This record gives sequence, C-alpha cells and structure tokens, in this order.
Amino acid sequence: MTRISSPQHSPRSKSEQHNPHRIVDQWQRPLRDLRISVTDQCNFRCPYCMPKCHEGRFDFVSVRDRLSYFELIRLVHIFTRIGIKKVRLTGGEPLLRPNLTAFIRAVARIPQIKDIALTTNGSFLNEYADDLKASGLSRLTISLDTLDQTHFTRITSQNATSLEHIIRGIQSAEKAGFRSIKINAVVQKNVNDQDVLGLVRYFRNTNHVLRFIEFMDVGRLNSWTESSVVKNLSILEHIHRIYPLVPLDPHYKGEVARRYRFVDGSGEIGFISAVSDPFCEDCHRVRLSSEGFMFPCLYAAKYLDLRALLRSGQSDHDILKQIILFWQNRDDQYSLIRQDVGHRSEFKKREMYQIGG
Ligand code: SAM
Ligand code: SF4
Ligand code: SF4
Repeated sequence: MTRISSPQHSPRSKSEQHNPHRIVDQWQRPLRDLRISVTDQCNFRCPYCMPKCHEGRFDFVSVRDRLSYFELIRLVHIFTRIGIKKVRLTGGEPLLRPNLTAFIRAVARIPQIKDIALTTNGSFLNEYADDLKASGLSRLTISLDTLDQTHFTRITSQNATSLEHIIRGIQSAEKAGFRSIKINAVVQKNVNDQDVLGLVRYFRNTNHVLRFIEFMDVGRLNSWTESSVVKNLSILEHIHRIYPLVPLDPHYKGEVARRYRFVDGSGEIGFISAVSDPFCEDCHRVRLSSEGFMFPCLYAAKYLDLRALLRSGQSDHDILKQIILFWQNRDDQYSLIRQDVGHRSEFKKREMYQIGG
C-alpha cells in the first residue's frame, strides 16, 4: 500500500515555514485554499457528478439550510486568520445562485484575499461574464468534456443547452477580459475518449489551458469502475504522437495539474490524474459545502459543521479554534489508499455536487 511516507518527504518553502498563520494536518500539509460551494443545484445533470440519490431524487439543500452570503463572508474572514488567500467558488453550478457577483465583490474587498476563482459549466457566461470581470473575479475555469453535440447532450443529461451556447459563453468570457481560462475535460472510457484530439485542436493557439481530468469515484452512485477511467498517461501519449509536448515546471508546490507545452509553441495543456497519479501528499484544500460543512477531502465522511457553529452564536475566535483543531487532526489520503478501502462505509458518503468540485 502506498501511503504518504513522512512529513519530511514534503519539504515546504522557507516563506511557508515562517508563515505565522501556518497550521498543518497530520501529514504536515498546510491549509492554503478554500473552495466554497455556493449552491448544490445545477442546470445540468452530469451523472459522474450528480447521480440521482434515493428513489431517483436529488437531495438538494433548502435555501434555509444553505449558508447565506453574510455567513459565507464571515467564514472567509475567519479563514483569512489562518492564512487563506485563495478562494474558489464552485457548486453545483455557482452562477445559478442569485447575486453571485455581489458576493464576489464582497470577497474581493477582503484585503487578505488575493485570488478569487470560479468553476462553471459555462452556460450562463453570456449573461454574466462582464459582471464577473467587474466584480473582481481573478480566474475562470470552464468545464467542457467534448465538442460533439451528441456526446455533450449525453454527458450533461439535458437537451436544452447547445454546445454552441457554451462556446459563445467562452467567447463572452474572452471579450470580458478573462485570459488563460482553464478548460476542464473529464474523460470517460467509451463516452468521450474519442473527443480528446478535437478539444486539443480547438484550444491550441487560444491562450486557454485545456486540462484533462481523470474520472473519479467520488460518492457512491456514479457507477465508477476502474475500467471506465482513461488514464492521463494514455491521453498524453496519444496527443504527443500528433502534437509533441514537453513538461513544464509547476507554478507552485502542490499544483494538481501536471503541465506541458506544445513544442510548436501553440500553448499549454494540463493533466489532473487523481486516480493514476494521486496528489494527496500536497493536498492543501478545504471544501465548504453549500450547507456549511467543512470537508477535508472529497471522499471524507467526517466534516465540521460550521453552520451549526455560526447559528449557535459562537464567536469568530471559537469557530477559528475548531477549524484549526479539525485541520490539525486531518489525515485524509483517499486517492493513495483507494485500492485498499474500496467502497468501505467510512468513505465516500457524498456525491460531488454535494461537496463542490
Ligand atoms: N458546475 C460547475 C462545473 O461543472 O464546472 C462547477 C462544479 S463541478 C462539480 C466542478 C468540476 O468537477 C467540473 O470540472 C467537473 O467536470 C468535475 N467533476 C465532477 N464530477 C467528477 C468526477 N466524478 N470525476 C472527475 N471530475 C468531476
Ligand atoms: Fe452540474 Fe458541474 Fe456537476 Fe455537471 S459537473 S452536474 S455541470 S455541477
Ligand atoms: Fe485531497 Fe482527498 Fe483528493 Fe487526496 S483524495 S487529493 S486528500 S481531496
């Protein structure tokens, strides 16, 4: 069994070691990024993320149970006290939540927050790209698994949105001034593995960064099997035969995507290989679900109920203490021990849309 070997195995930079806010978990992993799911609702129904729950239903969080923007801002402030500078907004589809740009503006006003990113399925960018740019959003990630309309309809399980509409959304984001947009493509065997080169051809020379993501076994209901995963190494080799690639250094320690550039100078591409090349050793993200549960890992069953703390009148100081304790006890490394734990009941209680990807 491969496990994180030792704290020394993962040396940190000098500036990080001297960071007075730095708290680390059981494997010496600092807490650096906060991912906030602003809603679990979505206009798509990609089965790898949003499989139906019990009796064919989706277990959505009610508006009353969801954290308000006021509560979220309070939590972001609290998290900045232990060094959080980067926030990613996700979901569900984050642009379905009303007044999201006002919320982003409020987060951008917090002096310690230096970077705000958004992950979206792209279907509302025609309406919101300009407002998102004006609100202070730093970076945009758009999910797009295929350029084939039939496959797109099958993957998203809905007929109402055309692929053209998403492409126009990407163009709206470019016009609004977003640069180096990340385009995330999850590849599944016999679903869209034929579409890889089409995506590469389309996004080469665009200044955007296409990233291939291995299909993950988050939750219990998305019918994941090892054989449905297309290993990124095979995608890389396939692309390399036609468009030669060379590796690039990571931007920072713990970057999840392995970066490559095209030899002919037509841009960059990335591979996120959570199944075949896990990156638990440097995992420094905490996820906040839309109902305010703090998850230390995509596969974690244990969480800290921050909503209960917020709504029971606890002070910022007390909430911070519990966050620190929770992180210090963290020992999650699911992707490294996947083979051993399988579907054991203490793992994988929640589907991707219920945590926030
Ligand atoms: N709705 C937005 C979107 O699709 O970009 C944001 C939320 S979605 C959960 C965030 C990312 O998680 C997307 O890029 C999606 O493709 C990815 N994702 C969802 N389920 C996944 C799975 N089982 N394996 C790998 N990636 C997954
Ligand atoms: Fe919605 Fe994104 Fe999940 Fe697809 S991956 S169902 S677009 S939240
Ligand atoms: Fe992080 Fe958990 Fe994924 Fe490992 S399995 S990289 S600990 S979220």
